Amino acid sequence: MRLDNESESDNVEDRRGGGFGGRTTIGIGTIVVALAASYFFGIDPRVIIQGSQMLQGQTSSQPQSAPNATPAHDPKTVFTRKVLGNIERTWATVFPQQVNRQYVAPKLVLFSGATPTACGTGQTAMGPFYCPGDSKVYIDLAFYDELRQRFGAGGDFAQAYVIAHEVGHHIQNLLGISEKFDEARRRMSEAQANALSVRLELQADCFAGVWANNAEKANQQLLEPGDVEQGLKTAAAIGDDRLQQQAQGRVVPESFTHGTSAQRVYWLRQGLQYGDMRKCDTFSAKSLS
Ligand SMILES: [Zn+2]
Repeated sequence: MRLDNESESDNVEDRRGGGFGGRTTIGIGTIVVALAASYFFGIDPRVIIQGSQMLQGQTSSQPQSAPNATPAHDPKTVFTRKVLGNIERTWATVFPQQVNRQYVAPKLVLFSGATPTACGTGQTAMGPFYCPGDSKVYIDLAFYDELRQRFGAGGDFAQAYVIAHEVGHHIQNLLGISEKFDEARRRMSEAQANALSVRLELQADCFAGVWANNAEKANQQLLEPGDVEQGLKTAAAIGDDRLQQQAQGRVVPESFTHGTSAQRVYWLRQGLQYGDMRKCDTFSAKSLS
C-alpha cells in the first residue's frame, strides 16, 4: 500500500502505557467477552480464555508511563492511523451513496494487555474486535506480528484488511444488523447461532472488500501490485476450517463462527470486485460458496 498522501485519523484513542493492564484476573467478564469476541475475529473462544490465563503475570510487568503522553509515532501506529483515516473518508462517501444515510465513524482504541470496554474486559489474546456497545474497534498492534508469524499472513494490506473487517462490524451496527443478530441468536440453538455468526462475519469481510474497491477508485496509487492477493491470502489463512485443522487436527463445521477459508475469500472478493454493499447480503444468500 502507498499511504504517503493519506492523512491520519483523529479517531484513535491510545491507551497503551496508561496504567490499566496489571493484575487482570479471569472472571465472568472475561468469559462473556471471550464468547462475544468469537464472532468478531476468527479465534476460538477456548483459545481466548486459555490465552487470557496465560496473560496473567505478564500484564503486571507493563511499563506504567503517564497517560496522555505524546501520541506514539512508531511505524505501526502511523500506519494504523492512516489506514483508519482512509477507511473513514471512504465510508463517509460510500455509505450515503449506497444506503442513503450519514456515516458516523467509529473510534479505534490501541491497547496492550487488557482494557475495559462496553463489552467487558478486552484482552490481547482475543485478537482485534469491535464492541457494538461503545462503537469502538479494539486492537493491540502486536496482532500484526501474530498475523505474520502465526497465520503466515503478513504485510500492510493484510493488516488493513483486519481493520477494515472490524469497521465492517461497525457498518453492521449502524445498519441495525448487529442488534438483530443479537436478538435472533438468543432464540437459537448453538449450532444455529454459529451458522448465523458465519453470515455476519462473511458480511464484514465483504464490507472490507467494498472499502478497498472504493478506496482504490478514489486514490489509484493506494494499492500496489500484490496487495489484493495478500488480502485474499489472509482471508484464506483465517478460515475456521484451516484454524481448526491447525489447532486440533480436525474440523467441526457446526462450530464454525467465521466461515471456511473458501467462504472468506469468496466474500472478500465479492466486495473487492463490485465495491457495492448490496452485493454483501450474506444473510439472504442461499449458498455461501
Ligand atoms: Zn469479525
